[in-house]
Amino acid sequence: MSCCDQPGLQPVEQALEILLRSAKAITETEIVSVEQALGRVLAEDQRSTVDVPPADNSAMDGFVFNTTDLEPDGSTTLPLSQRIPAGLAPTPLQPGTAARIFTGAEVPAGADTVVMQENCEWTDEEVVLPPSSTPGDNIRPQGQDIQSDSIIMSRGHRVKPQDMGLLASVGIAEIPVYRKLKVAILSTGDELIEPGTTLQPGQIYNSNRYTLAGQMNALGFDTIDLGIVADNFEATEQALRKAAATADCIVTSGGVSVGEEDHVKVCVEKLGGIDLWKLAIKPGKPLAFGNVLGTPFLGLPGNPAAVFVTCAIVARPYLLKTQGATDIAPTPIQITANFDRPKPAKRQEYLRAKLVINENGEACAELTGNQSSGVLSTASIGNGFAVHPLGGTIQTGEPVQFLLFSDLLF
Ligand code: AMP
Ligand code: MG
Repeated sequence: MSCCDQPGLQPVEQALEILLRSAKAITETEIVSVEQALGRVLAEDQRSTVDVPPADNSAMDGFVFNTTDLEPDGSTTLPLSQRIPAGLAPTPLQPGTAARIFTGAEVPAGADTVVMQENCEWTDEEVVLPPSSTPGDNIRPQGQDIQSDSIIMSRGHRVKPQDMGLLASVGIAEIPVYRKLKVAILSTGDELIEPGTTLQPGQIYNSNRYTLAGQMNALGFDTIDLGIVADNFEATEQALRKAAATADCIVTSGGVSVGEEDHVKVCVEKLGGIDLWKLAIKPGKPLAFGNVLGTPFLGLPGNPAAVFVTCAIVARPYLLKTQGATDIAPTPIQITANFDRPKPAKRQEYLRAKLVINENGEACAELTGNQSSGVLSTASIGNGFAVHPLGGTIQTGEPVQFLLFSDLLF
């Protein structure tokens, strides 16, 4: 056994494989307007019925003409035969003439070039064109963005703001999407009270509920918030039964460790089963995965930073796959470590960190401070996780894998 083996702890990648293999995507769909589609998952491929742009158009305010009408050397004077603002259908260009044209206006048949007005001299009647133009100059060709009958977005794609624009650009006003995943969240712990009230001795504010609600919302899911559940078997069973009856997936916080007050895991074992327990992840070791009466169950640890990490790293891809999404894996980037972790990691550690640019313009990872599983402020300051890989070490100046929060919270 090497220094880093932790008997019974599932490495993160292996656990993710097991989880993703068991994830069953929902199939129910609904139609939403493109305007309302942000973050939704496409239920069908989307095909364009038009070219974008639909016709050759001008990229400049200027003059449009045919290069065969240019003098071989020096400038050329051509009479102006029409004026083409955007939105107007032009008539074919009379041979031997030029036309005034504006950005976005259709290029008339018979013309092949636009010259920007800054390079011309003109009156109402004629224009002096500069020498040397090439056919196609300053013309955006028909279909340069999208060709008619091509697939512009595939089933399983999560709609981003630019996708909304792209769908609109081909005239699509509504799309079929999977209905929103319903995720039940509940926070266990007798010590918890909600913010907005005064703390009594022994109490702490429930923060996990808000972290989880935020993460679920950011991923586009509907949450069924079952609030705080007391640390006893009956209350836990009642809450889990309710969650299983109403949600597609259950995400809990706390109560999955080995203490006498940890009732969640024992209760899930009674109502369904646990397939996976304890990951080689830091923070977040006691994570449990299974089902409650057939409804998938993810039992996250109680510590606030562990909740944030395990939700982003483990729950997110599982839930996104269940939602029907295909683009579920974050894209790690390699940047330079600005810190040392000389001891081989016994669990893969997701260090709350910040990507900063140093004086040489190099992207570096800096730790944001205390990495205890109970400390949430360092996650708030950070913009990503620097990954201390299982069994590996990190040295200042060496490459480290970095996961941007912007990639994990969408
Ligand atoms: P547990 O896994 O239930 O033993 O919880 C581990 C630690 O996380 C304990 O210190 C709990 O008080 C704390 N904790 C559990 N749930 C929450 C919560 N919802 N908000 C803030 N802290 C919590
Ligand atoms: Mg607890």
